[in-house]
Amino acid sequence: MIPEIELQSKAAIKKYQEKKLQELLAYVVKKSSFYKRIFAKNNIDHTAIQTLEDLSKIPLTTKDDLQKYNKDFICVDQKKIIDYVTTSGTTGNPVFFGLTDADLERLAFNEAISFSCSEIKANDTIQLMTTLDRRFMAGLAYFLGARKLGVGIIRVGAGIPELQWDSIIKFEPTYLVAVPSFLLKLIQYAEENEISLENCSVKGAICIGESLKNQDLSPNTLSEKIKEKWNIELYSTYASTEMSTAFAECKYQMGGHHHPGLIIIEILDENDQAVKNGEEGELVITTLGVEAMPLLRFKTGDVVKAHNENCKCGRNTTRIGPVIGRKKQMIKYKGTTIYPPAMYNLLNDFDEIDNYIIEIDKNEIGTDRITIKLEVLEPSQELLNRLKDHFRAKLRVLPILEFVNPEEIAKLKFPKMSRKPMLFIDKREKIEN
Ligand SMILES: [Zn+2]
Repeated sequence: MIPEIELQSKAAIKKYQEKKLQELLAYVVKKSSFYKRIFAKNNIDHTAIQTLEDLSKIPLTTKDDLQKYNKDFICVDQKKIIDYVTTSGTTGNPVFFGLTDADLERLAFNEAISFSCSEIKANDTIQLMTTLDRRFMAGLAYFLGARKLGVGIIRVGAGIPELQWDSIIKFEPTYLVAVPSFLLKLIQYAEENEISLENCSVKGAICIGESLKNQDLSPNTLSEKIKEKWNIELYSTYASTEMSTAFAECKYQMGGHHHPGLIIIEILDENDQAVKNGEEGELVITTLGVEAMPLLRFKTGDVVKAHNENCKCGRNTTRIGPVIGRKKQMIKYKGTTIYPPAMYNLLNDFDEIDNYIIEIDKNEIGTDRITIKLEVLEPSQELLNRLKDHFRAKLRVLPILEFVNPEEIAKLKFPKMSRKPMLFIDKREKIEN
């Protein structure tokens, strides 16, 4: 199930998107009070925006705009909204999105072509290891996408390795949808309970939430750790509520493919100008075909790199590499810029570490300070020294390292309202306020 447009030339894809863009602009200036205001205030004639390059004439939409004017983005009567979801609120207050019947259909189509991109076929069965409720869009998208593709689905939800294995053994799913570090927990449970990983039905996993790749698209430590014990295919996918669109890897696993029928992408530098081909920058998106809450030039806050060479799978669409980090979580450390995922990768190199939390605050002179709280079975100075050396060598930073007890980590890692575990706590903003 590959949309025809994805196989066409880059020029044809661009032209197709430009037509869709004009339809979108005509729609939002009529229906969205937020964009009506923006266009009027900036004296923008929407019919003058014809090409993707013309997009730069439209001001960017920020997370702050969404939080402040949430309801003004809604283009339909509330009666038409069927499903309500909220963003995860990792950075700031959650924003709500409404989905109409057409939006749910679009979401299903998005996930169906994404699953299909990752080689899932109608005769497969997926075991869903994420939550389907708690106002979470992704879980629902997986269900709808599977249904559209004719794929079987087992909704186990997050956690509980025992129940996961019970389902795997009973229903023999061929694919899992999971957070990759949870796969390590499944491996551990299988080993402790003499379940054969080699002979089980699972062929692959669609992995969300954590990166499996280094920036050169080679597998990272987490990916290697999983595959060393459980040789299944690991597909990365990248998505968010605001995008209502996924970027899924094909069988060549060289970054998530862009679906041009569903979203326009731009990658911008610090000054909101397009980066040069292949350079890293912030992903800015414009949704296509969304009825209730379309977004124009929305700044995702995610720093990524695009890969534009043609893919062996035949799709001529751009691929997005692993998220380098969130722009807001950027850490400036003695002239070096780093993002938390680089530190996750490094910490994952150490089998001794059971759990960790990274905290950032500012020291007395106002520069960023990194503290890493570690849960290990046997704390030792020797381990601390090895970690420090590793940080200095690989990232050129030296964080404060502390051993803490499992209860403290658990409390920090699973705050009450959060749908996913926290690995990173940013205390910098509070100090600035
Ligand atoms: Zn491909």
